[in-house]
Amino acid sequence: MKETMPHWLDKQADLAPDNNAIESPLFDSITFSVLRDRAQQFAKRLASLGVKEGDHVAIYAPNSLEMVIAIHGLSYVGAVVVLLNTRLSKNELAFQIRDANVSYILTDEDNIDHFKDEKNVQIASFITVEKLQGLAITLKTEIYLDDVFTIMYTSGTTGKPKGVVHTYRNHWSSAIASALNLGIDRQDKWLATLPLFHIGGFSLLMKNVIYGMPIYLLDKFDVTSINQAILRKGVTIVSVVSVMLDRLIENLENQTYPAIFRCMLLGGGPASKHLLEKAKKHQIPVFQTYGMTETSSQIVTLSPADAFKKIGSAGKALFSAQIKILKDDQATAPLEVGEIFVKGPMVTNGYYQNEEANRTAFNQEWLATGDLGYLDGQGFLYVMDRRKDLIVSGGENIYPAEVEHVLVEIDGIKEAGVVGQKDAIWGKVPVAFLVADRKLDFDIVKQQCSESLAKYKIPKSFHIVEYLPRNASNKLLRYQLEEMLE
Ligand code: ATP
Ligand code: MG
Repeated sequence: MKETMPHWLDKQADLAPDNNAIESPLFDSITFSVLRDRAQQFAKRLASLGVKEGDHVAIYAPNSLEMVIAIHGLSYVGAVVVLLNTRLSKNELAFQIRDANVSYILTDEDNIDHFKDEKNVQIASFITVEKLQGLAITLKTEIYLDDVFTIMYTSGTTGKPKGVVHTYRNHWSSAIASALNLGIDRQDKWLATLPLFHIGGFSLLMKNVIYGMPIYLLDKFDVTSINQAILRKGVTIVSVVSVMLDRLIENLENQTYPAIFRCMLLGGGPASKHLLEKAKKHQIPVFQTYGMTETSSQIVTLSPADAFKKIGSAGKALFSAQIKILKDDQATAPLEVGEIFVKGPMVTNGYYQNEEANRTAFNQEWLATGDLGYLDGQGFLYVMDRRKDLIVSGGENIYPAEVEHVLVEIDGIKEAGVVGQKDAIWGKVPVAFLVADRKLDFDIVKQQCSESLAKYKIPKSFHIVEYLPRNASNKLLRYQLEEMLE
């Protein structure tokens, strides 16, 4: 039997019609009943555009109310939502549009021209759809948990982005697992400043309708607006990545966040000890979290009780999820590094039409994450780095992220990227690419590194560059640094 639920937004509009669903400095607050009405109207208008159940419809937009309405509208039609990253190049977009079998693209008025070369795809702005006369189609009143809801591409940090297919069950399980870890508080309001086209932002839309919790929507990352939202608008939880947190703390100066602010959920990439200590000094309750597009956002998170005790750890697998660390197909001992494998109802069933990636990533129900890490004696996960980026030098393992974290703490160094260079004696040696804001004396830099790093981890040479290669998610592309070495 197919497992069903009432449509999440219908349910919430029934339970709490007059509660705020979305607040924002950009528009008047929207209640759950208004959000439902607008999404249902939008669904009927989509039908008159020609969108049918099962169609793949892409959305290309910065965070906006229109985008939220379109996502729910597509769900009422039963279409699959393909989320496009607005920072991608034309070629990258063209690849994803083709790869995901997209037949419609919804975007804002400003970006209509962006897709004028796309053949076989119908483009419409949110406003054009809003102006259409709706068709009296039957909207979905129930959600089949195993239906596909979204396709979202990985960031492409280690290679070509892969289209991750998420079912409603994946998103539901992710929201519930997060609630079982962080708890739900009646006064919660979650700030949505991460892009909704990535899983970190999108997952907040799911929590919004599943918990009945308002989100505070921002269209871009702006330090002042975020701090204002926490200091004055009753925001209780914020999801951030490391660079954002660092800038929020700088901007905060001597102020402290109000007591009702209960969680700074930090994920997306490695965080340095220095940053975590700095946050602790400002009494910011940071919970590290580990996850990926494939796990529908967080799958491992530090719980509030452990936040200050286990600094540097991403925590334990959320309820209903499991992790294990394997080395040469064997489970590792505590503190021994190996590849992180994950399993749980929030983990995708696979990549869209990508046999090869599916074959290599999945071992029965376990997903190989491609990340290295270890568990401590109490089972807390520490994420080290990507398996592909590990540098083996004279038999010793070097994790580039660890070296980069030390480098960026040195005065004058703004950004650092570390990769392995072939070496006749050691196999590989670490070398660093640096973005600097002044002239550096590399002997002094090496000296400063030696205070925190073993000798074999200290970069043997340094290259000053104007900027580091990054992808549309702002993640460092170490494989391009390796190409630069060659
Ligand atoms: P691709 O899979 O295409 O190479 P990507 O892995 O960067 O891209 P995402 O799904 O956006 O795509 O990112 C997930 C990755 O981010 C994880 O696999 C991990 O490498 C990194 N990451 C997430 N959280 C953490 C964390 N807490 N500590 C260290 N790394 C993290
Ligand atoms: Mg990945």
